[in-house]
Amino acid sequence: MSSSVRLCEVGPRDGLQNEPETLSVAQRAAFITALAQAGHKHIECGAFVRAASIPQMADTAAVLAALPPLPGVALTALVPNLEGMEAALAAGCKSVAVFTATSESFSRKNTNANVAESMQRIEQVAARCRSSGTQLRGYVSTVLHCPLEGRTDPARAVAIAERLRALGCAEISFGETTGKATPAEVRVLCQLIQAAGLMDCSALHFHDTFGMGIANALVAYEAGARSFDSSAGGLGGCPNAPGAAGNVATEDLLHLFAGLGVSTGVDLALQVRAGQVVAAALGRALPGRAWRALIQSPR
Ligand code: MG
Repeated sequence: MSSSVRLCEVGPRDGLQNEPETLSVAQRAAFITALAQAGHKHIECGAFVRAASIPQMADTAAVLAALPPLPGVALTALVPNLEGMEAALAAGCKSVAVFTATSESFSRKNTNANVAESMQRIEQVAARCRSSGTQLRGYVSTVLHCPLEGRTDPARAVAIAERLRALGCAEISFGETTGKATPAEVRVLCQLIQAAGLMDCSALHFHDTFGMGIANALVAYEAGARSFDSSAGGLGGCPNAPGAAGNVATEDLLHLFAGLGVSTGVDLALQVRAGQVVAAALGRALPGRAWRALIQSPR
């Protein structure tokens, strides 16, 4: 088995989008730069969405333009539709992500489209990716639980992932949206991903809402997962509850994998520094815990 994992740092998009503050272009660029300096090779950098609906992601094109050259770093931007895709291309984006869900209620609430309609939008974006040579990543949300519908069927998530793969997604990220799932459920999900032959192109995206993020990542790793999404300091909590636990913290994942002897390519001390960059910009501590422990204890 491979003794390394791939990480996708989602703090600058999934993290900041779900925090109440809106950072400036310079602050977001400084955060992304610090993450690249920590060793990240895949960073979700922003989204080409309407600024009126998600002000935290406004001016993603300007953020990209403000970055220094980051050789070898894939910068992925979320695009909800063809309009966002064209904006991403105009900004020089080489990698985009699309979003769907297993839950009809969640899809309608988040994207104003049912799952079938969201797949149609994705087909349009995927065609444009092919014609422009752009890398495509797919997100499936609510893979085990939905905040609106409760427990969901992981087989449905895998079926959607198969369609995303067929549309050309290089990687599909399975979003455990609520953070409610426990390791036993994650094990079942990973078995289904393996059975479908999708593990090599799948990432797992956990949340720490119920304190299960690292436990779930460990179980997924043991079940063969080698790609994980995480967020600096656990950024990405509930917009209405500053400080609430959100995405699994990158620092916690780095600590877990270091202990297992598994390479991530990311330096924990520099990851902590990137967390400090964004914490200073937000003017408050991040939800995650490990980064605080590290700077308080001798190394
Ligand atoms: Mg998330």
